[in-house]
Amino acid sequence: MTRSPVFPYPFLSSLSAGNWRHLAACAGADGEIFFSDDQAASSGAQRLCDACPVVRECGAYAEEAPERFGVWGGMTARQRGWNPAGVRNRGRRGEAA
Ligand code: SF4
Repeated sequence: MTRSPVFPYPFLSSLSAGNWRHLAACAGADGEIFFSDDQAASSGAQRLCDACPVVRECGAYAEEAPERFGVWGGMTARQRGWNPAGVRNRGRRGEAA
């Protein structure tokens, strides 16, 4: 799958994502690592997030959207409570099941 060479999440441009995405540490990164099933690739994506100045904004966006797949805000979909089928396996993050 081809993704934007500038930002791994080109579809954000059509959403009210604010201007935070222009500061994303993943700008220019290979978007595939953000949506890979491979642990090493996901870890690489999360390392980019660790250095990202808009990690909180990105995570909040992913929660609100909601984004069911991929690394957002430094967390994998599983860490955000989604199973591989894109179904939330518990309540919103931080809530009891
Ligand atoms: S937190 Fe991660 S996925 Fe979100 S904008 Fe920053 S680098 Fe990209």
